[in-house]
Amino acid sequence: MPGERILVAEDEPGVRRMCLSALKLADYDPVGVANGEEAIERAAEEQFDLLVADIRLPGMDGLETCQAIRASDPHLGAVVITGFATLEAAIDALRLGVHEFVVKPFRPDELTAAVARALSKRRMEMENARLRALIPLYDLSRVFMSSVDLGTVPRHVVRIAREALGADTVSLMLLNEDGELTIHAAEGLPAEVVASTRHRMGEGIAGHVAAHREPVILHGDLEDDPRFESSDGAEQLGSAISTPLIHKDKVVGVLNVAKFRGTPPFTEGDVELLSVLGSQAAVAIDNARLFQETQRAYQRLAELDHLKSEFISIAAHELRSPLAVALAYATLLEEEATGPMRQHLSQVVQAAMQLKSIIDQMVSLRRVDTGETPVAITEVDLVSTVGAVLEDLRPLAGKKGQRIAVSLPSDMPRVRADQQCLRLILSSLASNAIKFTPDGGLVRVSAEPAGSRVVVKITDTGIGIPQEELERIFERFYQVEDSLRRKHGGIGLGLAIAREMADLMDGRIWVESQVGQGSTFYLSVPQA
Ligand code: ADP
Repeated sequence: MPGERILVAEDEPGVRRMCLSALKLADYDPVGVANGEEAIERAAEEQFDLLVADIRLPGMDGLETCQAIRASDPHLGAVVITGFATLEAAIDALRLGVHEFVVKPFRPDELTAAVARALSKRRMEMENARLRALIPLYDLSRVFMSSVDLGTVPRHVVRIAREALGADTVSLMLLNEDGELTIHAAEGLPAEVVASTRHRMGEGIAGHVAAHREPVILHGDLEDDPRFESSDGAEQLGSAISTPLIHKDKVVGVLNVAKFRGTPPFTEGDVELLSVLGSQAAVAIDNARLFQETQRAYQRLAELDHLKSEFISIAAHELRSPLAVALAYATLLEEEATGPMRQHLSQVVQAAMQLKSIIDQMVSLRRVDTGETPVAITEVDLVSTVGAVLEDLRPLAGKKGQRIAVSLPSDMPRVRADQQCLRLILSSLASNAIKFTPDGGLVRVSAEPAGSRVVVKITDTGIGIPQEELERIFERFYQVEDSLRRKHGGIGLGLAIAREMADLMDGRIWVESQVGQGSTFYLSVPQA
């Protein structure tokens, strides 16, 4: 590629000039120096793509020069110039990562061909490195997919960062409620450092990074850096990177990596990689936090639900006996009374019956929950069961001037069900139909075989149920909120119990409805 920057380190002026003009002619951008020290100085000032160095330079040789520059720029391409006497050294150089060599005396086109090959190898190496850099990201995204545990996510992040960057120490700090950064996972650090490290915003490197929301890379004498004041072991470190963990514009923590002296220092590419890891980690940690909070809330809800069930159960049992006594005496008195007193007592009995039905529902709910509901599946005569249920409800419909139309085929097959449950379900559906249908309305009850099952249909001409509530009405205590309906009383348990009981005997309940026109509830049970 034209314009690539090439540093030529050659002590023989004639050879150096020839190299520079050949490279210029081939559209490269070459710079010449006479020895290794000069080459290192130039490379510290500006970026080069490739070094062409004579293997025999005065002072530092070409190979040492190459290694010194690569310490801070590992992707530098390299071609060595060698004489016949140093051919073996050149072959060793190839083993050490030099891309190509040319043997003196060489023609200009031999040099440019070697440079072109070296640059192309370097491009491939960089592409490889780029692909390798994606591996930790891939690892991390797998962790995110599979782990929502706030304890393990930071540990995974630390391990992946250490492997990806070849770091000697890694720590992941999270900001706690008191605004302090504390270490949640670490590798390569003594346990007492992990336990005791705490930084406020702006304090130490981590606090500085959290406050400024930018990654920081440090090289050299880290113990002299005022920001490292409070860090133990800074004197062993040769380079370090800290990057903030930011999610939804909030700093949640800091990810730190460091290398000991004597190892190649971190590069700008490492800063970039750590930043990407950091931003992914911030998302994962936030998800894990949310998950933990949701789980806590769920547990609390489960506890409350349990308490509620306990309360219902106790209340129902405690209310049942005194109510039975009150109801028995009220009924007795009603039978013996005459005139207006009889009417008053009839109202007392009705109110007590209503209370009894609510308490009965609470008790059945409790029984379903504890698995105490005894289901005895037998062959049941549906026709007589429907008859008995409607017999009980006719007075209620009569009071509202409603008509109940029944249509059951004469050859109705028997069904497999629990007699008690079946009665309770049908009674619940039919009494709702009466309750939610205005005075003078019509309730139709029919049944017909469908395949191996029988489907009972209870249709009313009542207020109907909005489409979006059709499933919710089967939830416990759910009632369609509407002042119109509130006057109907009830506590929203009838359908929940009906469906749960149906489940116990392989039955299904569902509903179709049109607001203002009426509803049809279906019950399907297996044929005997
Ligand atoms: P409730 O004791 O409140 O009637 P249910 O579980 O039997 O409890 O019913 C839940 C809610 O479903 C009722 O409060 C009502 O809003 C609605 N609902 C049930 N049946 C009908 C119906 N036939 N027509 C209109 N709404 C109904």
